[in-house]
Amino acid sequence: MKSAEKKTTLSPAFIKEMKEKLLSRKEKLEKQLLSFAKPDPKQKDNFNSNFPEFGDKEDENAAEVAVFEGNLSMEENLEQSMEMINRAIQKIEKGTYGICEKCGSIINEERLKIMPTATKCAPSQGCIIKESNSLK
Ligand SMILES: [Zn+2]
Repeated sequence: MKSAEKKTTLSPAFIKEMKEKLLSRKEKLEKQLLSFAKPDPKQKDNFNSNFPEFGDKEDENAAEVAVFEGNLSMEENLEQSMEMINRAIQKIEKGTYGICEKCGSIINEERLKIMPTATKCAPSQGCIIKESNSLK
């Protein structure tokens, strides 16, 4: 059984609400990224951290590297969140939003409201098909 073939049974109004949430989150992420990185002209939704310029002294150079490394890890986190948002938006467009990638059932709406990028049922609720079965 391929869950990708299934269509979501969530209401169009709910999906619209989630899409708006996702798009506004994406906008916020982009703003955060643009505060310390530049968009990659070759790759959509990829950003490259700016290298800070404090001066030419040794301690200034060391500080530049430290800030740059901090920016890189921040960039990575934000890009990962962006990637998840893009995936969720793609699912909305394909009509498969809210379908658990593990068991194929519809993810709880309350969970999606809190985490619109969720691709699986909450661990506490558990998937209908247990992980051990689906992997065998
Ligand atoms: Zn599931």
